Amino acid sequence: MIAILGSANMDLVTDVPHIPRPGETVLGTGTHRYPGGKGANQAVAAARLGADVAFFGKVGADAFGDELLRRLRADGVDVSAVERVGDASTGLATIWVDEAGENAIAYAPGANASVDAAYVDRIYDRLRVADVLLLQFEIPLVAIAHLLARLPADRPTVIVDPAPARTLDGLPLERVDVLTPNRTELVALTGERDVAAGARVLLDRGVRAVLCKTGDRGASWFGNESLHVEAFAVEPIDTTAAGDAFNGALASVIGNLPIDEAIRWANAAGALATTRRGAQPSLPDRKAVRRLLREAGAGPRNRSGRG
Ligand code: ADP
Repeated sequence: MIAILGSANMDLVTDVPHIPRPGETVLGTGTHRYPGGKGANQAVAAARLGADVAFFGKVGADAFGDELLRRLRADGVDVSAVERVGDASTGLATIWVDEAGENAIAYAPGANASVDAAYVDRIYDRLRVADVLLLQFEIPLVAIAHLLARLPADRPTVIVDPAPARTLDGLPLERVDVLTPNRTELVALTGERDVAAGARVLLDRGVRAVLCKTGDRGASWFGNESLHVEAFAVEPIDTTAAGDAFNGALASVIGNLPIDEAIRWANAAGALATTRRGAQPSLPDRKAVRRLLREAGAGPRNRSGRG
């Protein structure tokens, strides 16, 4: 079982001719409602690839909370341990998108901000027996620190997506099996622009392995060995949630495949997510990933020579 402890949000998007100035009202041309939050997105990503996934986190006792849980269940995600918070709203991002594609976002974490050590203790027995535990930084880091400090040394395999980038101080990094920053996050976390140098800083701080997502270049692994796995050639139209697809896919195969093949699988899921708009709607299923791997099998980008 893959356990994902993280955020769940509703994104409310309004299309506008231009971003309103203070005091101004502009006439919207359309509205959309998208379930989001890195935790929920990554849970859906792993579940669509066929993994047995349980999501842990908090939503409000409100209609958006109902809807987020319904959507997660529809993708086969176990949400039985998600708590409903009476005194906070479901995490909400209100987003304006103008005709040029520029956006302005107001994000209220709401119930996500009340994920704390006491909640971790209530769900601990389920997290401890997971094969893989996947975490992101959209919930309070004190809860993550508490969990990592409590976990046994060898199980579950812990993957941490340090997004959005926040200080790693106070986190027991020696309990992180794989840290998966993108390039921007790697720079923010380490001050190093060079991927290998940044990874080295994190390894020296105790992380067991670093897997840096490098967009259209693929991903680079640094641990006992170093390797780079090239991206798949696709025509991206919206890179939202590529990283979420990547992390969910990685969690769904890590431990079951050699690491180069696991990264290739994650690269394929990330690449496919860029070919469709939105977050959860763009997350590929197992069939689509298999198809891309098959089609690319003979191509020049297959550097691992397997698949
Ligand atoms: P994030 O979405 O977290 O910013 P990236 O942009 O690095 O992270 O994307 C995550 C992964 O998705 C990459 O490691 C890669 O495998 C895949 N990916 C992202 N953009 C592209 C692209 N333009 N072409 C092919 N694969 C991509």
